Amino acid sequence: MLRIQERLFESGHSWVFIFPVLHVIMNKSIAAFRKSRAVSKRRVGKSAKDAVDRKRRKSDPKGEFFMKDSIYTIPVSEVFEPMDGCPICRLRDTLESRCVEYIMGAAMMEPDIRIETNKAGFCSLHFKKMLGCRNRLSIALMLESHLDYLKKEIFEQKNPQQRQGLFGKTIDRRSQQAQEMTHSCYVCDKIEWALSRMVDTTLGLWEKEESFRQLYAKQPVLCLEHYALLSQRASEKLSAKALPGFLEATTLLTKRYLDSLKEDVSGFCRLYDYRSAGQGEPSEQVRTSIERAIWYLTSRDPAKTDET
Ligand SMILES: [Zn+2]
Ligand SMILES: [Zn+2]
Repeated sequence: MLRIQERLFESGHSWVFIFPVLHVIMNKSIAAFRKSRAVSKRRVGKSAKDAVDRKRRKSDPKGEFFMKDSIYTIPVSEVFEPMDGCPICRLRDTLESRCVEYIMGAAMMEPDIRIETNKAGFCSLHFKKMLGCRNRLSIALMLESHLDYLKKEIFEQKNPQQRQGLFGKTIDRRSQQAQEMTHSCYVCDKIEWALSRMVDTTLGLWEKEESFRQLYAKQPVLCLEHYALLSQRASEKLSAKALPGFLEATTLLTKRYLDSLKEDVSGFCRLYDYRSAGQGEPSEQVRTSIERAIWYLTSRDPAKTDET
């Protein structure tokens, strides 16, 4: 090859090599320009969006809930005014359906969302919810790139075995990463992230507004999971002055329901006692006590979680 080049240079054909070199330089410059334009576009988009978010948060005297980078805005009134079951379960359910609808629809082709869903995957509950959307192509496309990520990033990585320390055990990164993936879910992560912020808004309102304290006290129930979530977050966020009152009100909401639930489950058990024979039809409360107890303990209605 060198000899041919030398001969062509000698024969005055050096321009033959200049064109390919120029071509490479120009291609690189165009690529660099496009990249820088894309980055600056992204920066402008992000900062503009941040400014809008900041503005929306400022104009939020009624305590509307916001979920960053998302379409979700859930007013406090929608969460606490219906007085039907656990308000935080209702909030979680709303976030969950919006999140599932979003990723099955508009966000399906968003590269940023796809990167996140590829890494995190989904839990079985949220796969079921996605199947319930009846859009099998969306699921298939998401699964295709998720499985591709799993194949390339985990199973085709170089040097998957790593020694811990000089004389330590050898760990297999593939199995570690696979385990992490089986315990993560894009929808669960989003809900957890949004719920913690929304709980903070609830705590802030409870501390500041008497009318909200009254609305909060009228809630029919708090399930065990959301009682724990609110109480633990309150211990971190509320002032020493407000905390005891909030914990008392919150405990009352879950304990009052627990007391009547326990009576209803006992009533159900007594139905099978020969001494109860001939006492007529059990009440609605007693008949539904098993499902309600499972809901109270898990925050999920067993009748609904089987729906696809
Ligand atoms: Zn709940
Ligand atoms: Zn999940």
